[in-house]
This record gives sequence, C-alpha cells and structure tokens, in this order.
Amino acid sequence: MVGDPIRLRQILLNLGANAIKFTLEGSVEFKVATVHRTGDDLSIRLGVVDTGIGITPQQMTRLFLRFSQADASTTRRFGGSGLGLAISKSLVELMGGSIEVESEPGKGSAFWLNLKLPVPLAESEPVVSSHSLAQADSKRLHILIAEDNSVNQLLASMILEQAGHTFEICANGLIALDRAAKYPFDMVLMDYQMPKMDRLEATRRIRESIGPSIPIIGVTADALIDDRGNCLQSGMNDYLAKPYRAEQLIEVISKWSG
Ligand code: ADP
Repeated sequence: MVGDPIRLRQILLNLGANAIKFTLEGSVEFKVATVHRTGDDLSIRLGVVDTGIGITPQQMTRLFLRFSQADASTTRRFGGSGLGLAISKSLVELMGGSIEVESEPGKGSAFWLNLKLPVPLAESEPVVSSHSLAQADSKRLHILIAEDNSVNQLLASMILEQAGHTFEICANGLIALDRAAKYPFDMVLMDYQMPKMDRLEATRRIRESIGPSIPIIGVTADALIDDRGNCLQSGMNDYLAKPYRAEQLIEVISKWSG
C-alpha cells in the first residue's frame, strides 16, 4: 500500500513515546490490523497500546487540544509540551484518517489510527516492509535492548516487533547486567552512551557473568574505527552504526542468531 512514511513515522513516534513515557511498569505494544479492502483502497488500523497510567474521562475531553496536559502534576512528573497529540491528530487528518482513544485510568491506554491507503496497481512493487522484514529472519528471538534514548528505544522496538522478535528494554547498563544475568535472552543490543555504566563496561560484565555464548551487538553513534575496536575488545560480537536502517538491524541480528 502507499502511505506517507514520514508523517506516519512521526505520528507513531509521538504515540509510542507517550506510551513509553506514561507506562512506568508493564508493556507497550504496536498493533496492525487490516480492516477491509474496497477496490483500490485498504483500510487499516494501527494501534499503540500501553498498560500505563491511563487517562480519565475528564482529561479525555481536552486530550487533543494544543498545550493540553492531563494536569499540572503531569508536567512536573513527566515533562512534555502538550503538543504531541494535537500534532499527531492534525497529521492523521491530513492523511484523510482519524485517531481514536480508549483508556481506563490505572489500566492503560490504546491509541488507534484509522487510515485508508491506496494499494498500488503494480502489486509487484516492494511495498509493505513489515512483510519483508518478517521474512528476512524467520527465527524468533528474545532480545534485550539496552538503550537510554526513548526515541531510539522505540525505533529498535518497532523494527524488532515487525520482524517477529520479542524484547525487553532497559535504560542503563546496571539494569542490563541484572536482566541479562537473570533471564535467558538470545541476544543483547547494547547502545553507546548509557548512563550509570557505559556499554563497554556493561558488555565486559555480562561476559564475566554469563559467558561468551550470548551475542552482543553494539550500537554506536559514530563510525570511528577505534570505537569499533573498543566494541569488539570489550567482548561485543559486532556493531551497528547509527543511524541504521531497519534492514541493517535485521541483518546483523540474523547473522548472529545462529
Ligand atoms: P506531551 O508533550 O505533554 O506528552 P501530548 O499532546 O503528546 O503532549 O500529550 C498530552 C497529554 O495527554 C499528556 O501530557 C498526558 O497527560 C496525556 N497522554 C498522552 N498519551 C498518554 C498515554 N499513552 N497514557 C497516559 N496519558 C497520556
């Protein structure tokens, strides 16, 4: 199908970043559902579903207004400008779609985008990337994402989700070490600048505590040769330079998935 990837990415990033921000514990899921096909159009629903703090009916009435936040304590606790949802709504409407919210305070929220996208006449053109991503690596893995930036967390998680992998995100090296020691992950994606313990140190300590078998892929912000050397020396199996494309992440994962 044909869509506007830049607008769509911005909307999903906004919704995903909110979901992560307002979910202190639990999960955030991205969902895709095809509603139906009419002629050359495909109606799809994309959902960002979280188990976070939720939204009260009273807050709901002001949700999409510019500069609106649930209340002053939200601003103090979570930061933000109150612009993200207003912008997301405008973008969805520019694409001829709509946005729906379901939420229960204390239980979580679901934001759904309803879009009608034309299907290209030449079906042979490469179109739905989620399909080709899923095919690129058929082995399902459970991956630990050690990454402190919420947008990068979201990008990595969207790519892994599309490729059929499951994952857990942790925002610093100490937690990464703890989780990797306790749970049987198939692989670790280790980011460059993590607070508390940097990724080289975290990698060394994961190697010390759980050994050489788990593949650790470093994600580096710069492509300096030295830096690559440091990654490998610390015990990482491989590295990926940011910004990376979805295919590159999938490729390096499948290379090390055994
Ligand atoms: P902000 O920059 O403050 O996040 P948004 O327009 O994106 O601005 O969101 C407005 C307000 O809506 C937020 O401050 C929050 O109170 C509420 N909100 C948005 N998404 C969620 C969510 N997933 N869970 C709970 N509350 C949310």
